Amino acid sequence: MDADYLVVGAGATGMAFTDALIDHADVRVALVDRRYGVGGHWLAAYPFVRLHQSSTFYGVASTVLGGGRIQSTGPEAGLHERADQPKITSYYSDLLADRMVGSGRVELFAGCDYLGERTFVSRVSGQRYEVAERCRIVDARYLAPDIPAESEPRFGVGDGVRVIPVNEVVSLEEAPSQYVVVGSGKTATDACIWLLARGVDPDAICWVRPREPWMLNRALIQPDPAIYLGMFADLVQAAGAAPSLPDLFLRLEELGIMHRIDRSVTPTMAKAPTLGTWELEQLRTIQHVVRLGHIASVRRGRLDLAEGSVAIADDAVVVDCAADGLKRLPRIPIWGPDVITPQPVRAGFPCFGAALTGYVEATRDDDTDKNRLCQPSSYGNSLADWARMNVLGARSSAAFGAEPDVKAWSDSVALNPARIPPGYAVTPALDDALSRLQRSLPAGIARLDELSRTTPSVP
Ligand SMILES: Cc1cc2nc3c(=O)[nH]c(=O)nc-3n(C[C@H](O)[C@H](O)[C@H](O)COP(=O)(O)OP(=O)(O)OC[C@H]3O[C@@H](n4cnc5c(N)ncnc54)[C@H](O)[C@@H]3O)c2cc1C
Repeated sequence: MDADYLVVGAGATGMAFTDALIDHADVRVALVDRRYGVGGHWLAAYPFVRLHQSSTFYGVASTVLGGGRIQSTGPEAGLHERADQPKITSYYSDLLADRMVGSGRVELFAGCDYLGERTFVSRVSGQRYEVAERCRIVDARYLAPDIPAESEPRFGVGDGVRVIPVNEVVSLEEAPSQYVVVGSGKTATDACIWLLARGVDPDAICWVRPREPWMLNRALIQPDPAIYLGMFADLVQAAGAAPSLPDLFLRLEELGIMHRIDRSVTPTMAKAPTLGTWELEQLRTIQHVVRLGHIASVRRGRLDLAEGSVAIADDAVVVDCAADGLKRLPRIPIWGPDVITPQPVRAGFPCFGAALTGYVEATRDDDTDKNRLCQPSSYGNSLADWARMNVLGARSSAAFGAEPDVKAWSDSVALNPARIPPGYAVTPALDDALSRLQRSLPAGIARLDELSRTTPSVP
């Protein structure tokens, strides 16, 4: 195969990297994915999934997903649109056709498995392909999430008990007397909201939450610099004065930045997806919450957990939402000797990180320089992980923000949550946010760094 780049994985990461690369360099890309098309895990996601963040922060640099629309009706009226699965997958297939294959510089090899050693094979025809030594390999699946539809339950399942991945809850033929929702993350909250919206009595839901999550207030994670930078200024100001991480999160809750479902329980989990206040109110109607650790096994009429056992209805449907959607693998230099491994660069926002990596790859020759500009951050999990993510993200942003062309590019890209778009009117609110950030960012990040090192990472 004659290609300059072999990109393994055509999910959000591979697409964002490739889009920015071909936008800024005249190169040929072979895009390989074992799935039947582009879009990655979204091709097998549960049907009622939506982005938890604004569509504007998701996708590729060249094309804004959803065109920046603001919701005019419903519980999130006034907030930016959050694309659902059909919108996300059609966005990616349009991008592939119009911008990538259409440019003649990208070829997709769908249904192909990358085997390593510059070789991939078609699962359909058996045809094997090999790329030349000069071709750069891009590993765009390093942080690929596990998803319920493709994950076995992480607990034992006895005879005669129904355990389903969340995808299948939409095709049940008969309503059980009880749903057991398993998981503490965004997928579990989506499943609960979906069941409640279809008239399931909150008392018919048993929610197994091995850990209590902190979640970000969606109204403050919006593509509006005054709102987003205002939120971040509040966050680092609070961090600078925080005696401990648990105290900081309680302070962030008071500031309206963080939500917890049950105010009588102190969460230990901070993957921090966003949540709408309307969702919070609905989730609080579910009283039957099981906090006995992870499930060891499910049998007819009973859950056995790490710290105890709970009776459930004999006909209960156990809805597994516990697949690990946010991988925490070691941070490695994005430019390695043999492979480029895109990872988040800011705190979160993986699409921006992948796009920035594509832009830097297209515009620079020296890998040491590229690694200086794109230092990987990590994802949150424990409170200490969350603090570390913000410290790494702030340092990386300072590094790439100091480079004039990278700064100009990242300010022109809607994927960048902290950007001030060219020509944006500086309102008094934005002015205030910027001056507070200037004053409090160094001390806030230094304190977060200290706390991330001194706070035990509770799994
Ligand atoms: C339900 C859900 C909701 C989310 N919502 C958001 C959100 O709102 N905002 C946000 O920023 N992030 C969100 N995320 C985080 C999400 O992980 C990332 O945003 C992103 O979609 C991850 O994409 P990826 O390309 O890294 O992985 P994937 O989408 O999994 O793509 C990796 C691809 O690599 C392919 N692959 C793997 N191994 C091979 C091989 N050997 N050969 C060939 N192909 C291979 C796989 O088939 C797959 O298609 C969400 C995650 C989940 C699970």
